[in-house]
Amino acid sequence: MSVFSAPAYDQHELVAFGSDRATGLRAIIAVHDTTLGPGLGGCRMYPYASDEEALHDVLRLSRGMTYKSALAGLPLGGGKSVIIGDSRRDKSPALLRAMGDFIQSQGGRYVAAEDSGTGVPDIRLMAERTAFVSGMNDNEHGGDPSPSTAYGVYLGIRTAVKHRLGAESCAGLRVAIQGLGHVGYYLARLLRTDGAVVYGADINADNLQRAVQELDIIPVSTDEILFLEVDILAPCAMGAVLNDRSIPRLRAGIIAGAANNQLATAEDCARLQDHGILYCPDFLINAGGIIDVHHQRMGSADVTKGEHIQRIATSLAEVLRRADTSHCPTHLIAEDLAKEYLRAGEPDPLAAPLSAVG
Ligand code: NAD
Repeated sequence: MSVFSAPAYDQHELVAFGSDRATGLRAIIAVHDTTLGPGLGGCRMYPYASDEEALHDVLRLSRGMTYKSALAGLPLGGGKSVIIGDSRRDKSPALLRAMGDFIQSQGGRYVAAEDSGTGVPDIRLMAERTAFVSGMNDNEHGGDPSPSTAYGVYLGIRTAVKHRLGAESCAGLRVAIQGLGHVGYYLARLLRTDGAVVYGADINADNLQRAVQELDIIPVSTDEILFLEVDILAPCAMGAVLNDRSIPRLRAGIIAGAANNQLATAEDCARLQDHGILYCPDFLINAGGIIDVHHQRMGSADVTKGEHIQRIATSLAEVLRRADTSHCPTHLIAEDLAKEYLRAGEPDPLAAPLSAVG
């Protein structure tokens, strides 16, 4: 396996492979860029089919965190880690403590938070061995950043709806949500409160049932959800769902969801634009979670955190404005904006005036 020539390598500052014989831990930590601060990002546990697949995932996710934190005006760099294994079968307290040792050995260049396959109790076990973790029971949801992620995505949807449809709310609009897990459920709740008609699908029958019963969403099959005729499609399950096969079949006017790396390739954003679909870059609108984790670390008041998440709307409005005038894909504009912040080296989120973020 080659690292330096891996397609997603993109000049990462650090890629570390860790293993522990006693617990069976096999993990990778990737730190893409620390210009603005330590690389903070989730620790994902997933049964990757190969080491190459795990490396590809961690590199793509880590790079995405650099842009996400820069756009969110956070004094943080981009980092991510993956544990190779099935979180339901292979997870143990000893393995998580060994992961804590591995994180500690990087000396603070990487700071871990929860991600798919890990939760707040797992982070607490890592914290027995390292100070470089975040997001533990320090917000009104027991440390879970997902409600903040959902709120940021919701603000993104509202901004896109205003831009594209001139509407001030989601009342009467049709939204399809793929994945009703941590983020998808809270997003459905915000949209239902705003008067939207919400369609949802999930491979997990319990998660689907909960949203149907508690939020009165309309259940559809996992095969159909991406291709419904709706105003907004919100991918909230997994990456690479927007690709050369799916895009020609999409019938939504706006795509705005929480899933990381929704575009399978860089060309897919132009493909969406060619199909007349307004795409809200995932790393811009799903930043509510990392903003939440940052404010947990800082011990900020809820109002400070809430105001910070609202900047997502300002930033997205600026990206959509630039997209209109330049006719460039939104994803590329958002990346360029993030690179502007990186070049400026502006590390203080709340000292930066809104206009600098937006
Ligand atoms: P989650 O695991 O809690 O929820 C994902 C849901 O999607 C699950 O209910 C799962 O059963 C479902 N799912 C999986 N494959 C599916 C398919 N093919 N069709 C329909 N449903 C499917 O994860 P989450 O925390 O809600 O995160 C969702 C996405 O958002 C992930 O891509 C994650 O990386 C991203 N994200 C999450 C946060 C956060 O704060 N949790 C922050 C930023 C980005």
